[in-house]
Amino acid sequence: MDSSREIEWKQLHDPLHANRRMSRRFGGCEEVSGPIIVGAGPSGLAVAACLKERGIGSIILERSDCIASLWQRKTYGRLRLHLPKQFCELPMMGFPPASPTYPDKREFVEYLEDYAKRFGIRPQFNETVAAAEYDGEIGQWRVRSMGPKEGEKTEYVCQWLVVATGENAEPLVPEIEGMEGFGGPIKHTSMYSSGEEFRGKRVLVVGCGNSGMEVCLDLCNHNAMPSLVVRDTVHVLPRDVLGKSTFGLSMWLLKWLPMRLVDQLLLLAARVMLGDTARLGLKRPKVGPLELKNLNGKTPVLDVGTLAKIKSGDIKIYPGIRRLKPHEVEFLDGRTEKFDAIVLATGYKSNVPTWLKEGSMFSKYDGFPRRAFPNGWKGECGLYAVGFTRRGLLGASIDARRIAEDIKRC
Ligand SMILES: Cc1cc2nc3c(=O)[nH]c(=O)nc-3n(C[C@H](O)[C@H](O)[C@H](O)COP(=O)(O)OP(=O)(O)OC[C@H]3O[C@@H](n4cnc5c(N)ncnc54)[C@H](O)[C@@H]3O)c2cc1C
Repeated sequence: MDSSREIEWKQLHDPLHANRRMSRRFGGCEEVSGPIIVGAGPSGLAVAACLKERGIGSIILERSDCIASLWQRKTYGRLRLHLPKQFCELPMMGFPPASPTYPDKREFVEYLEDYAKRFGIRPQFNETVAAAEYDGEIGQWRVRSMGPKEGEKTEYVCQWLVVATGENAEPLVPEIEGMEGFGGPIKHTSMYSSGEEFRGKRVLVVGCGNSGMEVCLDLCNHNAMPSLVVRDTVHVLPRDVLGKSTFGLSMWLLKWLPMRLVDQLLLLAARVMLGDTARLGLKRPKVGPLELKNLNGKTPVLDVGTLAKIKSGDIKIYPGIRRLKPHEVEFLDGRTEKFDAIVLATGYKSNVPTWLKEGSMFSKYDGFPRRAFPNGWKGECGLYAVGFTRRGLLGASIDARRIAEDIKRC
């Protein structure tokens, strides 16, 4: 490589230099020559990498001080990928061959850090996007961000805006009557790291998705006494069938068989391996697991050992909560039990409606693109969404490739 080409190459791969070149001050704001990506989670990184591969620089604005802040700051210690690694890799880079089928949280974050390094992605941390709006007069997006210091504000203008703030941007905390007077700790799973702090305590876990089930298991392993609130019907499936991942097997079967038939096979395998979950208080929905996921995005629970603890009575099941009283919970069936703490495994919500001033692409109601997968990734006037498919990292990778390709065409 001659020296000028070498310098050029180094500059393209030096993110600080690249960011500086990407924008210039103009009329009181930063004019960005490429896309602005909001959010440095796996989705934001995937888009930046796909753009980079096509020779397009971008700027990522991230409110936190690290990449993948959901994984690094808001998930419990025992978390592993729920799906095998081949279904969770981002475009153009696989997991290291030596990593386990289900990498743990640390291994996943390491993978993402290596990914960012490989594609020279250096997000601008501690910049929260507070507003973004299309300015028809200049034909560009105006993006306003706030820094960590009082009054620290920046305005950017750009032609393309990629929303990568995630389906899990803010914890969803339900209002339960009597919450203020409960007296013990009530924390969302985003604040739960390990069962250690609950050793010997009676803990009520609210919500029976993958997180709620795993937190219960974690509490058992730390000698706490967990109970689980199961308000709705839920599909619990074994994580693996005959040594193969249930998810991988379903994907393979779907190539040959209709979804309803695959659902029947999954339910048969679940019945043989796990027994009748309804007898344990976990009634199944009428619609099969894959069809339900397709209809409303509800993910089946992949069991990693919690069911055995429910069967053995180490985890008790309760119906919905009527109200909380001091250190007590009254349930919808009239029972009242004493608890020391409550963990809310009640999920997350998108925060897009709080900052994106736009009426057509995103629903104000849930902050997701109005158009369902696979059509939700593109809006009007250079607006894009990545990672809102309710299909995890696989969906984010599909979006990322499409967005980069589309911007390249422009
Ligand atoms: C406990 C748990 C386990 C999961 N396991 C799996 C799994 O095994 N496989 C799978 O495929 N999926 C899994 N998921 C789904 C999950 O959505 C993805 O893993 C992934 O984190 C989504 O990436 P994302 O970049 O879209 O969103 P996020 O990871 O949430 O990243 C969004 C980023 O945007 C930033 N941000 C938000 N608002 C702003 C703003 N206004 N300004 C600037 N920055 C902002 C956030 O700080 C965050 O860093 C899991 C989710 C959870 C909660």
